[in-house]
Amino acid sequence: MVTKLRLSGLFLAIALIASSAVPAAQRSSAPATTNDAEYAEFVKKATTKPEFLSPLVEQLPRRAGVPTPKDVLGYHIGTEKKLTYVADQQRYFRALEKALPGRFKTEVVGQTEEGRDIMVVYVSSEANLKNLEANRQNMRKLADPRGLTDQQVQQLMAATKPHYHITAGLHSGETNPPEAVIELAYRLAVSEEPYIRAIRDNVVVSITGATDVDGRDRYVDWYYAYKIDEPYDGGENYGGPPYWGKYVFHDNNRDINYGVDSLRAHLNWYLNWVPPIWHDVHEAQTLLYTFSGQPPQNANLDPILYTELPFFATYEVNKLTAMGMPGVWHFGFVDMWSPGYLGFAAANHNGMLRMYEVFNQGGANTKKARLSGGQLTRQWYRPNPATAGEVDWSIRNSINYTQTGLLTALELTSKFPTMVVENFYKKSANAVKRGQERPPHAFVIPAGQKDQTQVDRVANLIRRQAIEVHRATAEVKVQEGTFPAGSYIVRLNQPYGPLAKTLLEKQTYPDPALNTYDDSAWTMGMANNIEVKTIEDKSILDAAATLLTADVVTAGAVTGSGPVTVVTQNGTLNLITFRHRLKDVPMKAAKSSFTVGETEFPAGSFIIETAADRVRKEVEALGLVAAAAAAAPGVDSSDVDLPRIAMYTTWANTEKVGWVRLAFDRWEIPYDLIHKDHVQTGANLRSKYDVIVMPHQTNGGKAIVYEQPKLSKPLPYKKNDRFKSLGLYAETDDVRGGMGLSGAAEFQKFVEEGGVLLTMGVASAFPAEFGIAKGVEAQSPAPGFYAPGPYVQSEILQPNHPVMYGYNQKTLPIRFNGGPLLQAGPPPGFEQFAGSSPDRPQVLARFQGGAEGVLSGLMRNPDQIRNRPMVVDAPSGKGRVILYANNPIYRWQTFGEHALVFNALLHWNDMPAPGATAVKPTTAGGPQ
Ligand SMILES: [Zn+2]
Repeated sequence: MVTKLRLSGLFLAIALIASSAVPAAQRSSAPATTNDAEYAEFVKKATTKPEFLSPLVEQLPRRAGVPTPKDVLGYHIGTEKKLTYVADQQRYFRALEKALPGRFKTEVVGQTEEGRDIMVVYVSSEANLKNLEANRQNMRKLADPRGLTDQQVQQLMAATKPHYHITAGLHSGETNPPEAVIELAYRLAVSEEPYIRAIRDNVVVSITGATDVDGRDRYVDWYYAYKIDEPYDGGENYGGPPYWGKYVFHDNNRDINYGVDSLRAHLNWYLNWVPPIWHDVHEAQTLLYTFSGQPPQNANLDPILYTELPFFATYEVNKLTAMGMPGVWHFGFVDMWSPGYLGFAAANHNGMLRMYEVFNQGGANTKKARLSGGQLTRQWYRPNPATAGEVDWSIRNSINYTQTGLLTALELTSKFPTMVVENFYKKSANAVKRGQERPPHAFVIPAGQKDQTQVDRVANLIRRQAIEVHRATAEVKVQEGTFPAGSYIVRLNQPYGPLAKTLLEKQTYPDPALNTYDDSAWTMGMANNIEVKTIEDKSILDAAATLLTADVVTAGAVTGSGPVTVVTQNGTLNLITFRHRLKDVPMKAAKSSFTVGETEFPAGSFIIETAADRVRKEVEALGLVAAAAAAAPGVDSSDVDLPRIAMYTTWANTEKVGWVRLAFDRWEIPYDLIHKDHVQTGANLRSKYDVIVMPHQTNGGKAIVYEQPKLSKPLPYKKNDRFKSLGLYAETDDVRGGMGLSGAAEFQKFVEEGGVLLTMGVASAFPAEFGIAKGVEAQSPAPGFYAPGPYVQSEILQPNHPVMYGYNQKTLPIRFNGGPLLQAGPPPGFEQFAGSSPDRPQVLARFQGGAEGVLSGLMRNPDQIRNRPMVVDAPSGKGRVILYANNPIYRWQTFGEHALVFNALLHWNDMPAPGATAVKPTTAGGPQ
């Protein structure tokens, strides 16, 4: 129980500050509210210790005619064993809008992959809501201050209220935030406490109540199906559903290029409103961590941001500590390096990303928590840590912390509204000025690179984030070189110039001793295998160019005439779409380069002798480069047969598979998603499939075979009438257990009978460890190795192997995936027999290694990867395993590597026969 004395003292202090900001007329006309006595009793009971409650949430106001959450939902927010479906959350928000249209507004801003509405709600004073659209337009003007006079800026700042955006439920297993914001929204709309009136008067607040809407509903289904029965005292734990959204899980906070449509909807909403603050509420850590932007820091972001973040965080730690709430801290958790988190869109666009992690145990059951570890130590940034040991923890505790923190942050914003708006303007103005005054001044993506589809994609991905891209209307001559007309120019003297620099430059890691929370590199030119030039010559700012106003899609073309069409293999990812769209049209692939007229066509180019009109149509639509000829060129070729494809997923680790599913869906590659139930003894995989793709997943070969142990009752994941979101995108009677050794044997049979198994990243440990890829070993790096996703150099050793088609270069930048480290060749002691083995693995590409091989980002002890195989073709029986030590389809990001997989799909039955092109032992890889 919180003492009366502390409570009244706090409110008195807030009231004194807030009352000066509220006009007297409004104060006197405040609608009557009373406290909800039943709520007060509920919250006291639902909170497991008095110090987990705060004076800001121990009462709930009631106003005649306005429904509380309980009036609509039937329960108080934070009631034991109650989680709210998104439709009910939205139903409540609509009821609140209906009751208080002047103060509360809902907006549907998009649809999810599964067709649910994505909603944002706005809450502010009647005057501010009436002025909402004008305020939005003002904010947009301050976000791009080019051409504004000082006087206009002053007028705009005086007329604009800061907009504070809160998002909950990005991570579906984090259950309290979507509940907390329901009550928060009500409180902000109804309460007449002076400090809340000041928030309404001085701040426009908006809330996304569930960011991953599909995931939230699926998690709530899973909770009511299983988790609700979890015991209080630990023991059985029924985890979470195998899927959140359609494609990704936790990585929905890592979609740096906004490849998932529903995530892109959030970005588009942000860019339309540009709130200076985006506060993303998560759940983890003990008990409330508030982000303050610690090192390593991205120096492209304005220094002002690095003072705002600790300003807010320290205030929250101060206030909640003063209220007696233990375990509130900042610093020492997430750093400010990767720009790929969803809410980082705000920091990337001259606003501010704020973030919480609040303690909870998933679901809504009160359970015994065992607090331990470093977060219970007293530090300068954690003056009052939580106490180690056992404590009962309820979801209401978490909701109290979340709401109290958010109310405190809003209260601070209401006290310094001008500061927030002014900083936002200054950061935007500084960004323009920096690109104007200091080199580099631009990046150029030259026209005329071998594959225009990759070049266009990069321009479009940059534009997606509202970065201006120009196209040169004439040849551009600058100190760095001459670039043809049509080249893309990304000038840095624009508001989002710093973001362009962050995305396009090489990442120079500031301190190799520091770890980072996510990737250390994302350089777009490297990720897309295209050339991007940094331009320091200031004349680039005046080069003749037009602003792109829509996505660029360079049409393909067929030159010349004749009944035969040849389509060049220039590395474009669209070649596989082309093949699938015309699956009934016979196509051949040249095994070596050839010429048509003056033009050279590299190995892997397609030769098509029929259906010229349909071929031309798709060539144009897909941006391919083709020539017509009178007759087929006299070159050795093979039929491009389309394989029957399966993609293998484990149940506990569906996310990395999800990114590959997304890529396959986007490039229109059909596949069956299969899992442990499909590979039981007698599965006869070869009769059903030609290629099985095993994306990067779990943490090793054994984990792929055995998956989650059967430590509890069976957990079916199947469609059913009560829990409608379960059973997507695969079904099983039990998500636990794995394929087992008998499943591994089915994979071996599949390969030996002529199937092709593709394994990516850590999944490559599976065929190596279980003897399916003969002569290939998978090893772990030695201690001291640290590689958070840097880009490294790789060397192409077998340029004529079909997997390498289109990569007509000696080296290829690759995002290093962390392992496994492969070794290909005979096991020690058997070297003398290796020459006669028909199943010798071939290393198609390998990592260069060493410090000089690190192209962007951080790798400690880079000698460990020197000459390690990156892509291995390991024949076995009639089939083969292609092992990728990299993850060629990593998030929506490594487009320069995707063709390593697409090529294997196109040419699955046209690889060199086992033993046909034995490689010298010196290139077989492994430490040398
Ligand atoms: Zn989270």
